[in-house]
Formats: sequence, structure tokens, C-alpha cells
Amino acid sequence: HPLVVAVDGPSGSGKSSVSKAAARALRLAYLDTGAMYRALTWYCLDRGIDLKDAAAVENAAEELPLEQSTSPDAEFVKVGGVDVTEAIREPRISENVSAVATTLGARTELIRRQREQIEKHRNRMVVEGRDITTVVAPRAEVRLLLTASEEARLRRRGVQLGGTQSKEQLAQQVLERDKKDSTVVNFTRAADGVVTLDSSDLDFRQTVDAVLDIVHR
Ligand code: C5P
Repeated sequence: HPLVVAVDGPSGSGKSSVSKAAARALRLAYLDTGAMYRALTWYCLDRGIDLKDAAAVENAAEELPLEQSTSPDAEFVKVGGVDVTEAIREPRISENVSAVATTLGARTELIRRQREQIEKHRNRMVVEGRDITTVVAPRAEVRLLLTASEEARLRRRGVQLGGTQSKEQLAQQVLERDKKDSTVVNFTRAADGVVTLDSSDLDFRQTVDAVLDIVHR
């Protein structure tokens, strides 16, 4: 039977690791849609495309030669055969991804590919991003908004990046990106029928269990 679990939330909410663990537990495929926007950003930078040129970015989205794992156990992202799994997490990508993600024509193309993936997996998938509960899969069986306090999010991001950046740099990066992203997608407030799960005071295991409880109820 179909089981699409749509998970939205800001950066540092723990979305990716929690969604992956939930997919594993539920034996579902897993789609990281943020990785698609990141891969497109990598491609645009690699091609020297001006990110302010909406038509060029849209074009790049349409031709993007993307290969992406949909298994929660083996994550990889390739663009034109080049493994960019690590490269798309670099600061130069995080700093530029909002410019790409706010290009509406590019979003249309990536959303189309996301829906295609969901269908290909016969509607058995955990899909994670910013606009999954509202735009990509508004009819998903389970729709979740994973939130966390600003403090908790910055702490997690800091740990994830290995603590090599100053607190101010981190705060600037994470909060600025959310601000830019929220000009096109609203992931700060749950839409009708979307369950909010605040993970500020939960550890990883507790958050995954809370997600599984919501799926099973
Ligand atoms: O989730 P992650 O932080 O990797 O997402 C990277 C970027 O991709 C976000 O900052 C946002 O600009 C964009 N994004 C989006 N819609 C999604 C997923 C990600 O606009 N569904």
C-alpha cells in the first residue's frame, strides 16, 4: 500500500538524519530534495552560469544530468558521472543554493523530477525538504513539519560541520539561508493537516521514535 512520508523543516532541524532513519525502519525509499537543489547549484557553478540569470538556471535544471541514491543506506549524488556527494555540502554551495532554489523555473523542473521519483517507487518513500508537505506531495499519507529552536539548530549544525567555524559565521549562514529560502517556500509554519514535531528537547532516537509513532497512529 502507498506510504509517502513528507518531511519539511528548516536547516539544522535534524530532518535528513531523522528522515533517513525513519525510511530504514519503515523499509521505504528515501529522497533528499535539498541534495537536488545543491547538485543543481554545483552544476551551475561548474558551468559558470550566472545565478541571477533565471533563464540560464532554469535551462540548467532541465539539462541537469543527475543521478541520486534513493536508498537510506547508501547516499550518493552524481552530476554528469562526477560524484559530488561531499562537494555539495561545501560552504560555497550552501551560500549559493538559495539563489538557485528561488528561481521558479528551476523549482518547477526539480519538483517534476521529485514527483517522478515518488511515482517510480510506487508511492513508498520518505521525502524530505522545504515544500514537500505543501507542494510536492500535499496528498502524502503522512505530513510532518520538523522544527527545533534556533539554539538547538545552530548547535546541531555546529556539531555537523565539525566546529571549525565561529558561532557568528554559523548563525549567519544558517539563518540567512532560511530567510532567503522562506521568500519562496514557507516551512516555518505547518500547513493544514501537517503535524508539527518540535525536536528541540529530543535526542536523535527520541525524534525518530516520535516520527514512527506519528506514522503508525
Ligand atoms: O536541506 P538542505 O539544507 O540540504 O537544502 C539546501 C537548500 O535547498 C535549501 O536551503 C533550499 O534553498 C533548497 N531547498 C528547497 N526546497 C526543498 C529542499 C531544499 O528550496 N524542497
